[in-house]
Amino acid sequence: MAQTNSSLSSDFIREIIDEHLRTNRFQGHVATRFPPEPNGYLHIGHAKSVCLNFGIATQYGGPCNLRLDDTDPSGESLEYVKSIINDVHWLGFDWGDRLFYASDYFEQLYQFAVQLIKAGKAYVCSLSSDEIREQRGTLTEPGKESPYRNRSIDENLDLFARMRAGVFEDGAHVLRAKIDMASSNITMRDPVLYRIKRATHYRTGMQWCIYPMYDFAHCLSDSIEKITHSICTLEFENNRPLYDWILDQLNVDCHPQQIEFARLNLSYTILSKRRLIELVGKGSVTGWDDPRMPTIAGMRRRGYTPEAIQNFCARIGVAKNENLVDISLLEHCVREDLNERATRIMGVLWPLRVVIDNYPEDQVEEFECPNHPQNPGMGSRKVPFSRVLYIEHDDFHESPPKKYYRLGPGREVRLRYAYIIKYVNMVKDEKTGEVVEVHCTYDPETRNGPPPDGRKVEGVIHWVSANHSVPAEVRLYDRLFQVADPAAEADDFTKHLNLKSLKTLTSCRVEPSLAGAAPGSRYQFERLGYFCVDPVDSSSKALVFNRTLTLRDSWARISEKEKK
Ligand code: ATP
Ligand code: MG
Repeated sequence: MAQTNSSLSSDFIREIIDEHLRTNRFQGHVATRFPPEPNGYLHIGHAKSVCLNFGIATQYGGPCNLRLDDTDPSGESLEYVKSIINDVHWLGFDWGDRLFYASDYFEQLYQFAVQLIKAGKAYVCSLSSDEIREQRGTLTEPGKESPYRNRSIDENLDLFARMRAGVFEDGAHVLRAKIDMASSNITMRDPVLYRIKRATHYRTGMQWCIYPMYDFAHCLSDSIEKITHSICTLEFENNRPLYDWILDQLNVDCHPQQIEFARLNLSYTILSKRRLIELVGKGSVTGWDDPRMPTIAGMRRRGYTPEAIQNFCARIGVAKNENLVDISLLEHCVREDLNERATRIMGVLWPLRVVIDNYPEDQVEEFECPNHPQNPGMGSRKVPFSRVLYIEHDDFHESPPKKYYRLGPGREVRLRYAYIIKYVNMVKDEKTGEVVEVHCTYDPETRNGPPPDGRKVEGVIHWVSANHSVPAEVRLYDRLFQVADPAAEADDFTKHLNLKSLKTLTSCRVEPSLAGAAPGSRYQFERLGYFCVDPVDSSSKALVFNRTLTLRDSWARISEKEKK
């Protein structure tokens, strides 16, 4: 028996379920499903639906099925099925042995259609799809009845059987529900239930040449699986009467309740499979798992965690009205989670050579550095220090402004976990005038502590030892689009791609503890941001890191500036 749990935050869907439990509408059962069509990879919008459906099932102690809604062969594939299974698992959900395919119901669905014909509730219509569309009417005008609407049941049965047998060309006939061409809801004006389509289905091959439409297949798949609450996005609101009509005519045992909620829209990205397919197809990104993509596969590769995504979905909640959620909220959830769990390390993205003149040439010291300053339980590691180091180019300034607490002429700075160093001179490239090397001295008395003479050194910068550090490639990602709502733009959405969304740095240096870091492992590079080992391109011979996010939201600051 399902139980309500008042300690969990509620929403309008859970309120409906609570009401059903109170009135015993489904004999105390709650069963949900997540029904993706395997015609693309899952994106963060799907994650909202996954969290909602699996979350409700867990909360009420019922099952949540994973159903591949594969009733339209065009564009569906096994690759997509595999990615969906992998992504839902990775997000942290389990369906046990309840993995279903709508294509397994093709025979049952066919028999349901025959049953409708026998009840005089469906007919074979021989108008073309254009004619059907033209005769459907508008919001203000009723539709026209098809001249084939009153075919006899026997004729309909015969034609439908021959449609299945492959006697007719694609498009020659369709099966339509016989409802009401004057209905104020256009969806109810004798909708098409089956069409002839010769295409190879990735599971059933050429076994079928007729395929059920979504409206017919979906409600019956829900009913076959004894789903109680069929949760979908708002665009199906007008289809709910049809969902109910089909189940009512067929007098099935299980009649689920369809409930619609607002889909997730996220700023600076697009959540439409069709458009994501376009980006992949045109090569605007490297694939479905490009770390800039809003797909689960892309976010995983970028270093996002399932916990952060779940937390994001919990925070946005579910409602009935559509809006655009700020991507900063998702990024905030990711930072919050990584801040807790990411191992701190030092890595230099734009290396500048620093020579410590008074440090013995062949000496090497090891500093014990905590993996997480606030969490001693995460342990520590040894980081080697020697005479020649790399620091960040940005941490040196030839003529430092007053409040620049880093290295420059006349300045002292603390090397994180190591000594305070003092500027001596710099070496410039003769041709470019660029600073290529800085000479300093170190103060041996400041090993891991303040200077004994009490002088103040405010800046702390990160570093690596030149000889001990490991080379790495680092990929810096930015938002995929330049505008907040690319889908709303009147022109081609691809015109608004942010062409600077990927910057690849090939001469980075990271501390030696990262040699052999496992693919996918996540780190905070001190002072720089969160990074993860690219699971696809990184190897023990050539490390590749993806920047998951910077430490703070630089976009927020930029847009604040723009407002001024
Ligand atoms: P798209 O519009 O991206 O093509 P879809 O609805 O066609 O998505 P499906 O595979 O049918 O993709 O979606 C599976 C489930 O995920 C459906 O129940 C759908 O309502 C839900 N879903 C899809 N996109 C979103 C979104 N942006 N926010 C919330 N739920 C979504
Ligand atoms: Mg869909």
